[in-house]
Amino acid sequence: MILKPRHADVLVVGAGPAGMAAAISAATRDIKVLVLDDNAAAGGQIWRKGLEVTAERANPQAQKTRQASMRKRFRESGAELLPGRRVVDAPRAAIIRTVVDTSAGPTQESFSWDRLILATGARERFLPFPGWTLPGVLGAGGLQALVKGGYAVEGKRVVVAGTGPLLIAVAAYLQQHGAKIVSIAEQAPLGQLMPFLAGLWSHPAKLYQGIRYGAALARVPYRIGWWPVAVEKDASGMLVRLTNGNRTLAEPCDLVACGFHLVPNTELAQLLGCKFSDGVVDVDEHQQTSVPGIFCAGEPTGIAGLDAALVQGEIAGLAAAGQERQLAGLARKRTKEHAFGQRLNKAFRLRLEVCSLSAPDTIVCRCEDVNYARLQGHASWTEAKLQTRCGMGPCQGRICGPAVQSLFGWRANSVRPPIFPIPISAFGNNDRDSLEELTTFQETE
Ligand SMILES: Cc1cc2nc3c(=O)[nH]c(=O)nc-3n(C[C@H](O)[C@H](O)[C@H](O)COP(=O)(O)OP(=O)(O)OC[C@H]3O[C@@H](n4cnc5c(N)ncnc54)[C@H](O)[C@@H]3O)c2cc1C
Repeated sequence: MILKPRHADVLVVGAGPAGMAAAISAATRDIKVLVLDDNAAAGGQIWRKGLEVTAERANPQAQKTRQASMRKRFRESGAELLPGRRVVDAPRAAIIRTVVDTSAGPTQESFSWDRLILATGARERFLPFPGWTLPGVLGAGGLQALVKGGYAVEGKRVVVAGTGPLLIAVAAYLQQHGAKIVSIAEQAPLGQLMPFLAGLWSHPAKLYQGIRYGAALARVPYRIGWWPVAVEKDASGMLVRLTNGNRTLAEPCDLVACGFHLVPNTELAQLLGCKFSDGVVDVDEHQQTSVPGIFCAGEPTGIAGLDAALVQGEIAGLAAAGQERQLAGLARKRTKEHAFGQRLNKAFRLRLEVCSLSAPDTIVCRCEDVNYARLQGHASWTEAKLQTRCGMGPCQGRICGPAVQSLFGWRANSVRPPIFPIPISAFGNNDRDSLEELTTFQETE
């Protein structure tokens, strides 16, 4: 049973920088904009409510002003934020379903739109290696989020490893909160990073931010071309083994913050039938997807950072609101940030060695406890899922999906609703239709 949907002229999913920018530019007195987000407040990953991110600390005044100004403009835009709503399904054409926690328990709501803007952001990529599931080994952004939530790292020795600019941002953030950063291991070789670093001259704000991070972390070894191969833990403590392919060194530590760049959150776009190329949502110069009336902005169209998310959001909002005349001035900025994103992804692309770090007994799917040996010999992601349940646990392949792609080259070709696990009680006792819809088996490939 689909409850009567609440209608928006422009509906935005995701209240990170891209979604906020989209809502601000779409909302006018005549255009009703609703913004859905599964968090309790707007801000997305970088502007989590009330919590300063490292980027802001790198250049506190400029970044705080920017965040504060976006928050103010968002509040005053007339767009209505509906927090705590996780979009889980698209049960009918131009209708999406959310689950929201209320004091009476989880319940569902439906929304319809004239124009829909998807701004669902990205998540960290994890690659399995021996010991990566041990307590104390966390995602780099995940550890940062824990500290923002009050987890104390004061005096703790942290090794930060993996790839991407997030490693440096997280290291600086943890250091500011009292952690001792033992080292940062960046898997990308110097030759691969150089064109990206050279290109920063055309992005002075990003260059300045990089210099600030560099100064803050001047005493921390930044090991370019090094990656983690194992974490070991016993009564005497934890150590992480790093290698550069020729030499190996063991770093004693209390925590390992590990992430291999980002993966776009594209499940909803996929469910809605948007076309993809190279794993990201295909959009035109107005951020319009292949599905009429559906726009996409920010990380699902390619990992490119905050400035890209903001300009793409602004364009999507204006286009969705029919304000095409204002778009011309934004095209150059969009192109520039797109080029930055391409250089970024090239610089931090994975070396082959980090895609094959698993030992036979290394867990690949944490939810279903499936190790590497059990996945070997299968021909596809679907076959491996059917035989091992890999990717069928609560994270629904969000963590192991990118890992099996790196390990075996398997891609998930389709998604099945609900795209997030939902408690059955969200449907009430009598909603047999919805339950049947969601539990009917559908071919996945
Ligand atoms: C873990 C992590 C930490 C990061 N930390 C930093 C940092 O410190 N500094 C920095 O410069 N950059 C950081 N980034 C990168 C930064 O997020 C991007 O550069 C950029 O700001 C992305 O903006 P966005 O609006 O596209 O996405 P996001 O900021 O990710 O916003 C997307 C929003 O959509 C919501 N959402 C997604 N799916 C659904 C759904 N189905 N239903 C409802 N809501 C949904 C998410 O909860 C989120 O609030 C981080 C990224 C990650 C993944």
